[in-house]
Amino acid sequence: MKNIPYARQALSDDDIQAVMEILRSDFLTQGPVIERFEKAVAAYCGAQYAVAVNSATSALHIACLAAGLRPGGLLWTSPNTFVASANCALYCGADVDFVDIDDRTYNMSPEKLADKLKQAIRRGKLPDIIIPVHFAGQSCHMEEIAAMAKKHGITVIEDASHAIGGRYKNNPIGSCDYADMTVFSFHPVKIITTGEGGMVLTNREELYRKLLLLRSHGITRDPVQMKGAPHGGWYYEQTTLGYNYRITDIQAALGLSQLTKLDRFIARRTEIALKYNLELAELPLILPWQHPDCQSAWHLYVVRVNAKKTRKSRIEVFDALRASGIGVNVHYIPVHTQPYYRQYGFKWGDFPESESYYREAISLPMYYLLDTEDQKYVIDTLRRVLM
Ligand SMILES: *Cc1c(COP(=O)(O)O)cnc(C)c1O
Repeated sequence: MKNIPYARQALSDDDIQAVMEILRSDFLTQGPVIERFEKAVAAYCGAQYAVAVNSATSALHIACLAAGLRPGGLLWTSPNTFVASANCALYCGADVDFVDIDDRTYNMSPEKLADKLKQAIRRGKLPDIIIPVHFAGQSCHMEEIAAMAKKHGITVIEDASHAIGGRYKNNPIGSCDYADMTVFSFHPVKIITTGEGGMVLTNREELYRKLLLLRSHGITRDPVQMKGAPHGGWYYEQTTLGYNYRITDIQAALGLSQLTKLDRFIARRTEIALKYNLELAELPLILPWQHPDCQSAWHLYVVRVNAKKTRKSRIEVFDALRASGIGVNVHYIPVHTQPYYRQYGFKWGDFPESESYYREAISLPMYYLLDTEDQKYVIDTLRRVLM
């Protein structure tokens, strides 16, 4: 029986060697490798600054805090995302609302954002932060989103948890050309991994300084940033309320090693996507659509079971694939329909495009180490199930 997951990490001997070196070194955490990892990712993306943390969830939290999100504030994101993209607002005591998705990219729709902004102006309550999510690795229409945000003084944080290695208008995602900050995730199902880990990138120095403080208890050892004179060589100051969101040197070493393979990872994922596109074209499925401005990082390959063309329901297809040893998944249950979010008044029907997408979506196996034979098995099984 096959056992093919929908996603998994790709580690090799050099990754393991990189981690072993740290285990034998002086610093397991707060050492020099973290900054090397940050500089390498920032250089890859063409961003000025990067702050590595222990998860993308932590990254989103401190990005919101650095942007000044407070109780009474408001954050908008996509309903078609992992709950963390919305939870970060609640951590800050702020409110969350959603902007429905585009029916082809499954990303936040710029048209719906424009409409919602008009309504918000009429009601006199604009969001402080917008978090567009680059779903499946394909960038949102950042130029349009950034233009609207700028006009109204709204901070933009890209949730690029799916999208390191992807490109938008020929620039790497993470360059922050159209955002105040960009967040990556290094969870093992994502494009590159540190076990757990995340990063915030920015081109704004004042945000960078705040992010560094928030990552580690709000403590500084830099006399320039202190409110008072140092008492001596031991002196540090807590100047704000921060957290322990630090990543370890062990993880950063793994991340540095993984980063050297990022382009290879993306090339192989793209090859897998093109093969699916070709082989699944005749089936009653809606395949992922790519905007010409975007080169996806292909974190996910999502098909929609086209109810108009087949009598098979999504759940029948899903169950048949799972029964054949294929670890398909569904991304995402719209966040506003989660029980926790319904207490804020959200309900089914609020964001219909993300809901109809959700009812049809299945994520097929997509990862660097998915071999040709296993992909053929996935394709053949889908054919059998749908024909
Ligand atoms: C994975 C993911 C996160 C959270 O990442 P962690 O590193 O696991 O905290 C946030 N947003 C999106 C869109 C994700 O896919």
